[in-house]
Amino acid sequence: MTKALEPALPPQLLPDPATLSGPQLNEQHCALCGVRLYKDRFLGTVNYIDLFGNKATANLWGCAPACPTVVRPRRRTS
Ligand SMILES: [Zn+2]
Repeated sequence: MTKALEPALPPQLLPDPATLSGPQLNEQHCALCGVRLYKDRFLGTVNYIDLFGNKATANLWGCAPACPTVVRPRRRTS
């Protein structure tokens, strides 16, 4: 039983997996805005190198139907 997922975004619009957190790569948080997912939509599949140097594939999910309009600014802690 295979259900083909229809990506919501073309590949060039997907976020760079190197910038995503673990929960975002593990389908728990939105890959676009980072909030916890409750209703989600499939964005697309990305390939990246995991912490162990292995090639990995992740399905990215985002808020459905769209990300909240008020989003906490993502600030990098440096
Ligand atoms: Zn979102």
